[in-house]
Amino acid sequence: MLEISSNIENIFYLLSASLFIIGLKRLASPATARNGNRLASVGMLIAIIITILKYTNTNFEWIIIGFFIGGILGLVLSRYVQMTAMPQLVAVFNAFGGGASALVAIYQLMYSREPITGTFTLASIAFATVIGSLTFTGSFIAFGKLQGIVSTRPILLPLRNYLNLILLIAIIVFAIILSIPNISSINFLYILIGLSLIVGLLIVIPIGGADMPVVVALLNSYSGIAGAGAGFVLNNPVLIISGSLVGASGLILTRIMTKAMNRSLANVMLGGIGVADGSTQSGSDENRPVKSLNTEDAAMILGYAESVIFVPGYGLAVAQAQHQINELANLLKDKGTNVKYAIHPVAGRMPGHMNVLLAEANVPYDELKDLDEINSEFDRTDVAVVVGANDVTNPTARTDSSSPIYGMPILNVDKAKSVIVLKRSMASGFAGVENELFFLEKTNMLFGDAKDSIEGMTREIRDLD
Ligand code: NDP
Repeated sequence: MLEISSNIENIFYLLSASLFIIGLKRLASPATARNGNRLASVGMLIAIIITILKYTNTNFEWIIIGFFIGGILGLVLSRYVQMTAMPQLVAVFNAFGGGASALVAIYQLMYSREPITGTFTLASIAFATVIGSLTFTGSFIAFGKLQGIVSTRPILLPLRNYLNLILLIAIIVFAIILSIPNISSINFLYILIGLSLIVGLLIVIPIGGADMPVVVALLNSYSGIAGAGAGFVLNNPVLIISGSLVGASGLILTRIMTKAMNRSLANVMLGGIGVADGSTQSGSDENRPVKSLNTEDAAMILGYAESVIFVPGYGLAVAQAQHQINELANLLKDKGTNVKYAIHPVAGRMPGHMNVLLAEANVPYDELKDLDEINSEFDRTDVAVVVGANDVTNPTARTDSSSPIYGMPILNVDKAKSVIVLKRSMASGFAGVENELFFLEKTNMLFGDAKDSIEGMTREIRDLD
């Protein structure tokens, strides 16, 4: 096996870290994101090869077995996981990332060839174990909520904030004890693992469906911070850098998400706000009348509109109608219609969900407008076409203080001159709240799968000519 000096190792680690940073920078725009992803992957490959070459006396059998299991699993997941299940997959990745970092730290303390006596290393072990373990259980609860296995309603335990505070203090105390070389013992590590796993459950269970975007972003950040902690345990610079990058970008994303929901982080984490007794959270009220139309009527309205804003949401991902929406938009543009897309930061089930979907269908990036950019344009727009979006268009977010989405900035779809809503039924969205938009005089419901409805409208508009 090739031996490498620590200088060469550090040069390659520096190269990997630079590729991570350039890759991350390129992820900021849809135009460069694919290339950014590739650069970061090359950086990771270099880091892995250098790390393997460093440990020449390692038994490689397990690494090769792990490589094949992980590689095959990754290949299968990337081919077969539906776009709609991506957020759950991200939640599971966060869980495994946190769990892996905790295991690295635990292994070091339990099986290190020489006893660990350095305070800094012991503190790093405590840190990576705590953050990694709570990320592990917290992410699995987030997965359950996104998958619908765990209720998306906040589960509020009595005295939960006091309980969390006591657990937090206990974790800090045991982490300090574990870090003091003379009194450190493996038993304190077991206690820390147990307490952290419980805290992970307790911090995510009270968080309601509407606040899940913040939680997913935060857990993503935690998995990175745990990775950085494991990097300190192993004294591996590239793991410290990559973990810190994930941790920092996750925190920035959390900030963006809390801003998008008009929430403070403390407000989200304390949980359950807005779902007191008497809240309007409910399914649909089947009895209230709504206006519905067919694809022919919808095509008439669209065919004569001068300006149209498409408002995509989670239903676009379910229907996989991104190519059809692009085709319809192109047809309208050919007729001289001004077409834009309104992108809400929490539309869909993961940050950037709509951008990814529409980029896949080659929708021009300059037609995708953020909430701040587009909201003032709705009142000058002839038709807003809501494609499988619900919560992000709900006007009660402005007015009903008992609603779980109260205070969340929404797309001002209700201000457009006329509204067409594409969805299959009157069912509520992720937050489980009835949408007042559907009952407005100017709103027409086009019931059916979004892909079929868009194809139908496109056919009818072609026939208009
Ligand atoms: P919503 O979940 O509010 O609504 C989606 C709508 O799509 C449903 O009402 C559904 O109605 C409709 N739909 C589903 N399938 C189809 C289909 N095949 N054809 C047509 N319509 C369909 O989505 P939004 O995007 O408006 O809001 C996102 C919600 O998810 C927010 O509450 C947000 O907080 C939450 N969230 C967001 C995350 C993020 O990071 N972006 C992460 C986690 C949660 P019907 O069944 O009647 O068709």
